[in-house]
Amino acid sequence: MKALSIPDVLAEVAVLVKPHFGKGRPADYIPQLADVPGDKFGMAVRTVDGGEHVIGDADEAFSLQSITKVLALGLALNRIGDEIWTRVGKEPSGTPFNHLSLLEAERGVPRNPFINAGALAVTDVLMNVTRDPAALVRDFGGFLCGERLEIDPAVAASELAHAWQNRAIANLMRGQGTIEHEPEAVVAAYSRQCALTMSCRQLARAFLPLAAGGFSPVAEETIFPDRLTRRLNALLLTCGIYDSVGSFAYRVGLPAKSGVGGGIVAVVPGKATVAVWSPELDRFGTSVVGTAALEAFSQITNCSVL
Ligand code: GLN
Repeated sequence: MKALSIPDVLAEVAVLVKPHFGKGRPADYIPQLADVPGDKFGMAVRTVDGGEHVIGDADEAFSLQSITKVLALGLALNRIGDEIWTRVGKEPSGTPFNHLSLLEAERGVPRNPFINAGALAVTDVLMNVTRDPAALVRDFGGFLCGERLEIDPAVAASELAHAWQNRAIANLMRGQGTIEHEPEAVVAAYSRQCALTMSCRQLARAFLPLAAGGFSPVAEETIFPDRLTRRLNALLLTCGIYDSVGSFAYRVGLPAKSGVGGGIVAVVPGKATVAVWSPELDRFGTSVVGTAALEAFSQITNCSVL
């Protein structure tokens, strides 16, 4: 990284992203997300050596949505290990995150754990170890960021009320035998998981093990073995940004995960995590301003892994 201090970099990024507001639209599939003001912007950087720097709305909690899929996968890998890869693949899907078109041809084995089909398979696996996978994910996230987290009940209820596409996916997979539990229960657990909230500051702290060889300086505990940490970062780099992961890697060059709440968390291996939140999304469901912010951050600090 260049000598410029991180607070200076964040201030520069906040200026550089200004022209990108108004280019995207907040998620509109549920009113709770559609109503979030589009001009929100927060960013947090947490370094492996204990530095923490924030700008803007970095302490405002937002809906994590698909970002929770990384926490759920981490839990599943820790609990059941490589067996998870019999249930879900490791390839980018090239189709929108909520599609089920590949499932029929590929016998119900989702391409990767970060599309909805894959996340539903992970939830199904977690249902073997707990009756409440969403609470397990919430408490894992809370442990990693050192604070108690909340699942937004209104978002969870609305998610479930609008989960027709996810129900279709879960039912198809149940028919193909790649989901074992009652599809409605799997969708309900997944919908609650998506409604978990965090601020950028919490998110940067929670993902720090992925930048620190698996160790959480916040929880003061090794969360993942180093090799698994590298593999999780590989999955983020190749599958973390839905079907625009290639152009995201081209622009930002960091492993990252986005969610339709407008959050993106990126990993600078060995150095830091960067969390950004801004609700206006591109047509793939990733924050427009968030992507621009990470692109600027990665360029200014020269921290791309590629
Ligand atoms: N709750 C959303 C869904 O399942 C999450 C998707 C996302 O963030 N991409 O459709």
